[in-house]
Amino acid sequence: MVWQRNIVVKTDEEIEIMREAGQINVLALNTIRSMIRPGVTTAELDEAAEGIIRDHGGVPTFKGYPGPYPFPATLTISVNEALVHGIPSGYELRSGDIVSVDCGTTYHGLIADSAFTVGVGEISRDAQQLLDITEKALYIGIEQMHAGKRIGDISAAIQQFAEGHGYNVPREYSGHGVGRQMHEAPQVPNYGRAGRGLVLRPGITLAIEPMLLVGTFRTRVLPDQWTVVSADGSLTAHFEHTVAVTKNGPLILTPLEEVVDGRKKG
Ligand code: MG
Ligand code: MG
Repeated sequence: MVWQRNIVVKTDEEIEIMREAGQINVLALNTIRSMIRPGVTTAELDEAAEGIIRDHGGVPTFKGYPGPYPFPATLTISVNEALVHGIPSGYELRSGDIVSVDCGTTYHGLIADSAFTVGVGEISRDAQQLLDITEKALYIGIEQMHAGKRIGDISAAIQQFAEGHGYNVPREYSGHGVGRQMHEAPQVPNYGRAGRGLVLRPGITLAIEPMLLVGTFRTRVLPDQWTVVSADGSLTAHFEHTVAVTKNGPLILTPLEEVVDGRKKG
């Protein structure tokens, strides 16, 4: 396959810098998570994230990212039926919303990319189940990231788990290689066949990012040209980690629990 030629295998030193980028990214995401409540605007969350990343010597990777026009913010914030790529705005979060926050940090030229989805105030049981299954799908995908396994093993594991719980996965939006570029080869679709695709080896770094939809797998893009929503308006969720394949198995470079103000959570 053509794209196999473009795989960038990272050195241990590069992976260490990506882990540092990941710590800044997680610090921003953890802070945003603690700010999420009814009444806060998505633009306020974005401003806080940018401040944290820059204060720690990082650069917000998404800001200015090429697309229909340069992405205007540090975070993508995608509420309810919005799956990915939502633009922060004056929208005030409401109790019952589910909000996906995706963030990228560039640090010394290397990138970490991660995302979570969380409920605002009280959310429905159905919404909570969607969040729980999407987060589990992330770890089920990551578990496949051993040397000798293939990209299709990750894709198939995510798809089977999601569909086994009655959800769908999008076809147009995927995980991806990540490193000096935010989107490197290979693509890591959330659907596929086990045993197919690139063979994983130590030094490959991937952003694994299951996106689950309650309804149809079809999506559409809003007139703002960035925000991707479910075609039928059903709820969606998204979780993501940047993960390295190592000799000892998958190493999550953006572990959510690890860093709070530079300290491990107790
Ligand atoms: Mg992301
Ligand atoms: Mg990504």
